[in-house]
Amino acid sequence: MIAKEIEEYLDKPNRHLDSQVMDELVKLKEQARINKDEYIANYLWCLQQVYKIQSSYLTAFRMMKVGKYEDAWNALDRTDIEISFLEPHFEKYFGCIVGFRFYIAPILNAVKQFQKLFPYKYFFSHEIIVKEEKCSICGKKISLRHGCNHRIGQLYLGEMCCHEITDMEFLAEAIVTDPFDKYTIIHVEGQEYNYYPLEQLMKVIKDPFALWNVDELQVVSPEYKNIGRNELCPCGSGKKYKKCCLGTNKIYTKHFRINLANREFGEIQPLTFYNTVKK
Ligand SMILES: [Zn+2]
Ligand SMILES: [Zn+2]
Repeated sequence: MIAKEIEEYLDKPNRHLDSQVMDELVKLKEQARINKDEYIANYLWCLQQVYKIQSSYLTAFRMMKVGKYEDAWNALDRTDIEISFLEPHFEKYFGCIVGFRFYIAPILNAVKQFQKLFPYKYFFSHEIIVKEEKCSICGKKISLRHGCNHRIGQLYLGEMCCHEITDMEFLAEAIVTDPFDKYTIIHVEGQEYNYYPLEQLMKVIKDPFALWNVDELQVVSPEYKNIGRNELCPCGSGKKYKKCCLGTNKIYTKHFRINLANREFGEIQPLTFYNTVKK
C-alpha cells in the first residue's frame, strides 16, 4: 500500500480498521526519516493520527456496545486528545480543516455527546511543580535556564515534540468536576453508576458515524407526578407531600433527549426521552 491508498482507505467509514495499515505507515515513515524527507514524514505522522483517532473511537463504540463503560470513557478521552494533536497540522497536509475529512467531524461530535451521558462527576487532578523535563526530539534536559530549539506540539521528521517530566514536586491532589485529563475517575465506595441512558442509546444506535446530539432537560420525576398534596411524600420521609418535597428541587430529575439525524430528510428529530430515574 502506498500512502495515497492509505489516505483513501481512511476516508471510508470503516467499522473495523485493518492493523496492517498502521504497520505500513510505520514502515513508510521510517523510510521517509532515513531519506530526511521532512514533509513526507510529517504527512505520514498525520495519517497515523487519523488512524489512531478512528481506532480509539471505534474501540470506545464497541466497548459501549458490550457495557464496558469505563474502558469506553477512557477511549473517548483518548480520541479527543489525538484530535487535538492533529488539528494544528491538518490544513498544511490536507488543504482543509480537520472536520472535513476522515469522519473526524462526526467522531468529535459523538465523543462530546457520549461524554454528556456518562455518570462520572468527580475526578482527581494533580497539582505539581515541574522541575526538569526532557525534550522528546533531541533528548536534552529542559529547565528554567536551559532549553532547546524544539517547540511542544511541532512536528520534526514525523515526530511530535513533547516534554517528558523527569523531576517534579508533588503539591496536592485536588478533586475537580471538569478536568483536562478525564481518566482519573473517583470511585465512591458503595456508589453505583447509572448507565441507563447509555444502555438505551446503544440499543438503537447502529452506526458509529451516525449524527446525533443530546439535550439535557430538567423534568419532574415520575414518582412525584400525580401526587396529592396531602398524600405521603414519595421520598420516604413519612411526612405529607405538601410539608416535604413539594416546591423544592428534589422533585426534578435529569432527562436526556437523544436527537438522531434523519438521514432521508436531513433534519434532526427527537427520537425519544430516556428517563434516568431508577425503574
Ligand atoms: Zn529538543
Ligand atoms: Zn419528601
